[in-house]
Amino acid sequence: MPNIIDILKQNIGEDVMLPHADIAMRAVSYWDSSPLHAKALLRPTTTLQISKILKLCHEHNQTVIVHGGNTTCVQGTRSTDNDIIISLERMTAITEIDPVTGTAMIEAGAILETVQTTVKAKGLFLPLDLGARGSCTIGGNLATNAGGVNVLRYGMARSMVLGLEAVLPDGTIISSLNKVLKDNAGYDLKQLFIGSEGTLGIITRAVVKLMPLSTTKNTALVALPDFQSVIKLLTYLKANIGTNLSAYEVMWGEYVSAVTQPGAHRAPFKNTYPFYVLFECDGNDPIRDDERFMEVIETVYTKGLIVDAVLPKSENERQALWAIRDDFEPILHPKPVYLYDVSLPISSMDDYVKNVQEQLNRLLPQSKCYVLGHIGDGNLHFFVQPGSSANNTRHLSDCTIYEPLQAYNGSVSAEHGIGHEKKKWLSQTRSAEEIALMKLLKNTLDPRKILNPGVVID
Ligand code: ZN
Repeated sequence: MPNIIDILKQNIGEDVMLPHADIAMRAVSYWDSSPLHAKALLRPTTTLQISKILKLCHEHNQTVIVHGGNTTCVQGTRSTDNDIIISLERMTAITEIDPVTGTAMIEAGAILETVQTTVKAKGLFLPLDLGARGSCTIGGNLATNAGGVNVLRYGMARSMVLGLEAVLPDGTIISSLNKVLKDNAGYDLKQLFIGSEGTLGIITRAVVKLMPLSTTKNTALVALPDFQSVIKLLTYLKANIGTNLSAYEVMWGEYVSAVTQPGAHRAPFKNTYPFYVLFECDGNDPIRDDERFMEVIETVYTKGLIVDAVLPKSENERQALWAIRDDFEPILHPKPVYLYDVSLPISSMDDYVKNVQEQLNRLLPQSKCYVLGHIGDGNLHFFVQPGSSANNTRHLSDCTIYEPLQAYNGSVSAEHGIGHEKKKWLSQTRSAEEIALMKLLKNTLDPRKILNPGVVID
């Protein structure tokens, strides 16, 4: 009996298959440079090919792992020598940009940054933006319902999708490439695939909603005396700048000190402060927006909400400020570094972070903990360096971060998803009934459990 590799070669063509020796030349993920393992890596160019591959894999009980840009922070693409990988890397076309409806139709393998720049050239704006923009793909962004830095104003990835095409684990193509905002004809099936981390189907194309490109952009990095001021500043900006406020990124003092150490990013201020906020406003009124922004900065300074401010004078300077937020390379060493992504109400954040820091000091006295977040969305990121080679450091660190969340009505994943890494913590956030329904959906759509098996739920 021919094996699945021969069957795939016969039915799909050998050109779709990456030479086997090349698989190990790829890294496991952005975070893990060890060599990739797989039985085969397929690079289809059409939805129809993906459908044929999945149909055959379904018939032969062959497990399939889906690859987008492989920037997963939660081991969402873990594979073994028994798995077949489908990479969307050759499905990168932006097939249509419609300025009248304000939409673009995009293949799942398109790199986010490429989409951003392509629509920008047409005077349009895709509100999705995150640190991994240069490597992550639209398909991965949607499969994980990506968040990022503009959620405050525009919502998560799912709120930007009007139409979607996906292939079910048995090869069935579900194509609903709508372009309209209003469509209540039965269940909104696209939302089933968005955020399901590739466990219910492979997203192959999407229609996304675009906004007109703003003509003004005002950015400030400000220093604040305490967390209460961080909350008050956000409230003030929401009331006085309104929907023009597009980003509100908070960095705790230790984080900024660490990423601006000598040899890393340039320190924005002479002094160090307990909190920093990088915020940005986008608008379409060049005269009034800039004036209003300066007024607001002066007012919040007079009120004592901020104690220092840097305003970039050029796009380069603006990017240098954003690099302090986006490029955390200086704290990724020494390894290991544990990365966390949780959410909880902003009113509980100060309490929670202090709690975590105290508990880490007790359990891992050598550890270092860096905190930042999109706190307008209730989202915090932690980087924990355990500072010890004991083999239980990960567990102690995980318990410290995740266990208190339930009491605050928080979530173990704000935006990174569950993958393999957070599976055992899912019940901190989801009830037994919710998890049972997730399993029912998975078993119904993928009864043979061939697609991204073990991701999110077992
Ligand atoms: Zn984030």
